[in-house]
Amino acid sequence: MKFKMITLGCKVNTYESNVMREQLLNIGYQEVSRKETADIIIINTCTVTNVADQKSMKSIRHALKEPHKIVIVTGCMSQYHSNNLVEIGVSIVLGNVGKGNLISYIEEFFKNQRPIVDIKSLEKQPFEDMNLQHFNQTRAFVKIQDGCENFCTYCIIPYTRGPVRSKEHSQVVSEVCSLVQDGHKEIVLTGIHTGHYGSEYQNVTLATLLRDLVCIKGLERIRISSIEMNEITEELLDLLKKYPILVDHMHIPLQSGSDTILKAMHRKYNKKEFMDKLNQIRSIRPLMSVTTDVIVGFPGETEELFQETLETVKQMKFSKIHVFPFSKRDGTLAAEMQEVVDERTKKERVHRLLGVSKQLEIAYMEQFVGKELEFLPEIIKDEMLIGHTGNYLSVKCPGTQDDLNQIQKVVLEKVEYPYMIGGIYAKV
Ligand code: SF4
Repeated sequence: MKFKMITLGCKVNTYESNVMREQLLNIGYQEVSRKETADIIIINTCTVTNVADQKSMKSIRHALKEPHKIVIVTGCMSQYHSNNLVEIGVSIVLGNVGKGNLISYIEEFFKNQRPIVDIKSLEKQPFEDMNLQHFNQTRAFVKIQDGCENFCTYCIIPYTRGPVRSKEHSQVVSEVCSLVQDGHKEIVLTGIHTGHYGSEYQNVTLATLLRDLVCIKGLERIRISSIEMNEITEELLDLLKKYPILVDHMHIPLQSGSDTILKAMHRKYNKKEFMDKLNQIRSIRPLMSVTTDVIVGFPGETEELFQETLETVKQMKFSKIHVFPFSKRDGTLAAEMQEVVDERTKKERVHRLLGVSKQLEIAYMEQFVGKELEFLPEIIKDEMLIGHTGNYLSVKCPGTQDDLNQIQKVVLEKVEYPYMIGGIYAKV
């Protein structure tokens, strides 16, 4: 039986797709590429924005036109709205619960030849048991947490991912150990709200988990996929001081550089608090790369408030900004807000902020010209290795297949945006 996996959205979805992939490979199914014909087509959807929702539907319709036995839809879009998927020909519809048990749904479908729709309520859901032995990329993602209860006014995720729940501490440690034994040098801890890891248990936090992970033999890098500013605790800062295995990169969503908009978003900090935390981090790790997310065109965002955001991100010296035009999601508080910003203005602000992001990114990269850093080659193309440094610089340098997945010392010679061009001079 041949299958192919189409994954949209975030690192959590990528992790869960790997879990579904591993189940099928373990029972002898063969994975084929997107261009090839498959018996089973799985689409792991996203609905964080209207665009993501449309892309998910487009992938589903495309799959239904291809020769297949089963089309399976899972993820946030089907958890949020799955209404007509069976009518248009989808065989199995799951939400965000059940991906760890995909085989049983497939077997049930083949036995009864009847469509299956199993969208579970997320209330009182325990953390779904999932463990990976292998990961289909050099840097392996490990999902440690699910759900969010912050209810930022623009965000649909709490409705599609449910309440906060965490993977049991020892399970995370053993999963990371297996992935290291499988050859992975870098682990990316991911979740919907990583900073809330363990919040449902006594004395369990992201910091207590990290304290065990930093001791794992053979593990060379730990990266946290994203963390909220107000969850970077003194404990975490203390670990940053002690353990270089925690990379020089943090992704901390700002969302807006205006206190007026942050308030309307129900974000749990203001500009000054965010800036103070950045200064604390940089006093410990001066070269820390801090990347962020910013939404432009939130209801009520005047030109003046947008200017404030431009000034704020320049002061905060991010090394990259992921820019999102506000996307109205039905069911969220922001969907009911007046003073809507028109699409043309939103587009124009996205363009201006991306321009500022590129300037900040190049300024951050230029600091490292002539410097020696460690980098992890992930792929090789035209005899050039491509990979990332700990502080998430994308590096290109000459090399061979043997250099892949080995941490190397590299001298960074110049910026050729979006890459730093370098030359390997020693294996680590
Ligand atoms: S913290 Fe806010 S933006 Fe992030 S997932 Fe939760 S509700 Fe959404």
